[in-house]
Amino acid sequence: MKNTNGIELMKDGKRLDGRKPDELRKITMKTGVLKRASGSAYVEWGKNKVVAGVYGPRQLHPKFMQNPTRAMVRCIYNLAPFSVDDRKKPGPDRRSMEISKVSTEALENVILAEKFPNATIDIFVEVLQADAGTRCVGLTAASLALADAGIPMKDMVAACAAGKVQGQIVLDLMKEEDNFGESDLPVAVIPRRKEVVLLQMDGKLSREEFSKALNLAVEGAMQVYEIQKKAILEGAGGRI
Ligand code: ADP
Repeated sequence: MKNTNGIELMKDGKRLDGRKPDELRKITMKTGVLKRASGSAYVEWGKNKVVAGVYGPRQLHPKFMQNPTRAMVRCIYNLAPFSVDDRKKPGPDRRSMEISKVSTEALENVILAEKFPNATIDIFVEVLQADAGTRCVGLTAASLALADAGIPMKDMVAACAAGKVQGQIVLDLMKEEDNFGESDLPVAVIPRRKEVVLLQMDGKLSREEFSKALNLAVEGAMQVYEIQKKAILEGAGGRI
């Protein structure tokens, strides 16, 4: 069955890249990839390639922005000009500002910022290659980089999207599914409590479809969390 754009995204229960509806793309993660950052991580997730670097905690300047009770947390998401098919104009735009904002808010839920008065913790997420789901990949890399920097946190943040493609609820949409599918639902959670700290939606879902997609995305994020834990252990040489 073809969708309204004439593109067949599902055939015989399989997706364009051969995945089953509830299957994640291949994910690899590595910590400690940047020498000059306080902590860093590199994540390959399908065709996405994302690096995250943490700087801080360090004293916040200008001084009038300092908060004597807690550190400021700033996550800055950037899509590199060469990361997408058509060259992207360098620098921030509305989309990257929105993703930076929601990522910062998600991470503020886990970082113990009160331990660092008057400080700032800056997290830079650089998307080197994009193929849909980059806000989820970015957040996953960001929390891994924070752990690598030894920033005290309640838990990690793990993220994954689900969505609707040709009438079916599927996990972890890739570019073609994001472009031509019916809906995309990126979700980030604090895994230990399965508490949702980011939830956005593109397109339309019925109440039942929304429930199904949300559960699927949360379960996807739990799988992502297992890979994060392995990467942290490997980064520490198995010493944790
Ligand atoms: P996410 O990457 O979190 O899914 P979007 O849904 O906004 O966020 O974007 C989906 C995909 O569309 C991106 O991963 C990227 O591949 C592509 N994309 C986003 N912005 C641009 C852009 N300015 N130019 C070309 N492609 C883009």
